[in-house]
Amino acid sequence: MERVGFVGLGTMGAAMAANLVRAGYPLHVWNRTAGRARPLVDMGATEARTPRELAAAVDVVVVCVSDTPDVESVLFDNDGIAEGAAPGTLVIDCSTISPSATRAFAARLRERGIAMVDAPVSGGSEGAVQATLTIMVGGEPDDVARAHAVLAAMGRTITHMGPVGAGQATKAVNQVILCGSYLGVAEGIMLALKAGLDPDAVVAALSGGAAQSWVLTNRSGRMIEDRYPLGFKVALHRKDLAIALELAREAGASLPVAGLAAQLENGLIARGHGDEDMSALARPIRELSGM
Ligand code: NAP
Repeated sequence: MERVGFVGLGTMGAAMAANLVRAGYPLHVWNRTAGRARPLVDMGATEARTPRELAAAVDVVVVCVSDTPDVESVLFDNDGIAEGAAPGTLVIDCSTISPSATRAFAARLRERGIAMVDAPVSGGSEGAVQATLTIMVGGEPDDVARAHAVLAAMGRTITHMGPVGAGQATKAVNQVILCGSYLGVAEGIMLALKAGLDPDAVVAALSGGAAQSWVLTNRSGRMIEDRYPLGFKVALHRKDLAIALELAREAGASLPVAGLAAQLENGLIARGHGDEDMSALARPIRELSGM
């Protein structure tokens, strides 16, 4: 069994790392803010002082941090993964970041004999806890095959989408589809409330039909209650839409619904709601109708 390291113990990373310990991997962990490794150390993981120290102790490094500059920092800073990793090390990046930056990072690592696959995840904090994540992978076939056992300890649906960056591009498509789903459910719930319907009965009635979706099942309750605990932060989804809108520019594609969602999320962030769950997209939809 390969020795595995995990960098970034946030909402997703902490739960994913715990599943690697449960699967029996000898796990080394590192998190920028001290203290977040404690529950994993209690489960048997070893805490490293730096990403560099972590990388030197393992065969495979999983990264799950926020954004493109954060992945660059943990990979290439003085105390970063690239400084500690021996040739032959595999980096699995589960963060959601830019496809083009991913290709550049993989090329820089390749110069040092370090392999990289991008493996962004979908399925929310629930999927991370339950090890049921959907994982979209980009990379060389041999590297993806090597990553598979580690990914299978954290997720259920693992798909090799193509070369490095293809996983991130697929995740961008996922985030575009998702924002349309959130906006559609938010409008529907608001209309149900305004029309005097019992919104819970509406959700139950529609859940077997064509409007059924993960958002309707798992997030309509928050929109009905007008309370938006995490989940998935608005600010992180806005980050993902920036990635998708940039990919669309590069590819010559037009994304009107994603553009609208990005503007509504800008408004949420400006009004201090950036750390709420993405279902807070219901706030501006409600406000437009005077709720
Ligand atoms: P989170 O709870 O905000 O955690 C972010 C993690 O990244 C923390 O461990 C944070 O360390 C670390 N980090 C951020 N910037 C860093 C830097 N410059 N150097 C070192 N560490 C840094 O976010 P999350 O929800 O776990 O999301 C992580 C990734 O998964 C993101 O790319 C997100 O888009 C993606 N994702 C999230 C979900 C979801 O439902 N939450 C679903 C699918 C994908 P500190 O503790 O020091 O802040």
